[in-house]
Amino acid sequence: MGDRPRTVCDIAQAVQQGEVTATEVLEWHLRAISRLDGDLGCFQDVRADTARAMAERVDADVRRGEQAGPLAGVPIALKDNIMVEGEPATCGSRILENFVSPYDATVTERLRGAGAVLLGRTRCDEFAMGSSTEHCAFGVVRNPWDPQRVPGGSSGGSAAAVAAGLVPCALGSDTGGSIRQPAAFCGITGLKPTGGRVSRWGLVSFAPSMDQIGPFTRTAADAALVMQTLSGVDARDDTSADAPGTAGLDALQAPLKGLRVGVPVEHMSDDNDAGVNNAVDTAADALRSLGCDIKPVHLETTDLGIACYYVLGPAEASSNLARFDGIRYGRRTSRPDLALEPLYAASRSEGLGEEARRRIMLGTYVLSAGYYDAYYKRALQVRRLIHDEYQRLFTSVDVLLGPTVSAPAFRFGSHADPMSMYLCDRYTVTANIAGICGVSIPGPMTEREGVRLPLGIQIQGPVLGEDTVLRVAHHLQAASDWHLASPPISD
Ligand code: GLN
Repeated sequence: MGDRPRTVCDIAQAVQQGEVTATEVLEWHLRAISRLDGDLGCFQDVRADTARAMAERVDADVRRGEQAGPLAGVPIALKDNIMVEGEPATCGSRILENFVSPYDATVTERLRGAGAVLLGRTRCDEFAMGSSTEHCAFGVVRNPWDPQRVPGGSSGGSAAAVAAGLVPCALGSDTGGSIRQPAAFCGITGLKPTGGRVSRWGLVSFAPSMDQIGPFTRTAADAALVMQTLSGVDARDDTSADAPGTAGLDALQAPLKGLRVGVPVEHMSDDNDAGVNNAVDTAADALRSLGCDIKPVHLETTDLGIACYYVLGPAEASSNLARFDGIRYGRRTSRPDLALEPLYAASRSEGLGEEARRRIMLGTYVLSAGYYDAYYKRALQVRRLIHDEYQRLFTSVDVLLGPTVSAPAFRFGSHADPMSMYLCDRYTVTANIAGICGVSIPGPMTEREGVRLPLGIQIQGPVLGEDTVLRVAHHLQAASDWHLASPPISD
């Protein structure tokens, strides 16, 4: 399809001005989904009927000359761990196959209020645990750049859907990298906001001290526009940051001249894929010519991140997932006549996949009497070191620039060993541990066996630094064409 609006900004503007209807926009995307999603598998559930009703309401508002909202007519998909009233939220798990959300998440409510058209929910790793979406109980999601490769995870369905043009925006959640890493693997923009900047009310918890909801989009400007709707205080989330929402598009314009950009030498390891380090160097050069002051810095706690995250994450998960026992929540075993404890055990063993069970066992272990001090308490102390190092660094630099992941998207099955999968999160988990923000944007591409693959550049910023990291991303995108490449499987 020729010159139709494709970005969030362009769609919202065209719908508000009556140049296209929300219904037309929705139908383009529904057609793309029916043409491509059979191969890609991004969607767990497409809700064409409710989406059509939402689009018609937007069109009626525009016809009456009323404000249709900042996201008027923008089709948005939600990761399948974010609640939409009356729809399932499976979290990629059999145990929640029949769960129906009794209420809207705060982000769902805010998107509705902004005129967005919610068109369905996307596949993810079970309970958001994973880096490839291979742990989804309901099927595989393929990377639109190369269907032999994973889209990343855990928000793989959201990332692949945006990359393939099935939606201009999707929401994901990021506990240790699950927005930034799939954004990197699929060649799009993915923002993990500061802890508390976006309400977690209605997000099924994995590790609430690190979970954050954020947007996947093609451009940083789109992320800024969507964040303006998503962010801000919410009394229903007691970890909500007591700070105003982000400033939207207005925050992107100021020039970068004089901005201090640190490049952590620990992130530019020789073990990284050579293309990855080149991509970061090229981005650094581009920022230098925009007037930024680029300097190498140290992030010495980088090496502690994975160990700390894989103690804290499972500990919190083991406690959160206790509610899925076949009685309070979740599918109950069909085996008759079981006493209470065997019934819990059977329901959980049948309903939960291998990775979720592994995390529950790890978490229960590190929290148990006798091991608590050695693991959980120690990990909290390490968390403090990581937090403090970032805080010190952000007195001498404004943002940090580095790779999102050490390599491009991998092939299905190539990280079957859980430890090797965990190590993929090396450059992303520390932001969650420290509660800071970070965005991944596409850099120059690399090539594998004749197939072009995207690489992610990560820009991390301090607490409440979303406007700054998005401004840096926006200027980089204005000065390059890295974000404009379209994958072979796309609309
Ligand atoms: N890959 C990480 C994990 O498996 C991060 C997941 C996430 O951010 N939800 O825990």
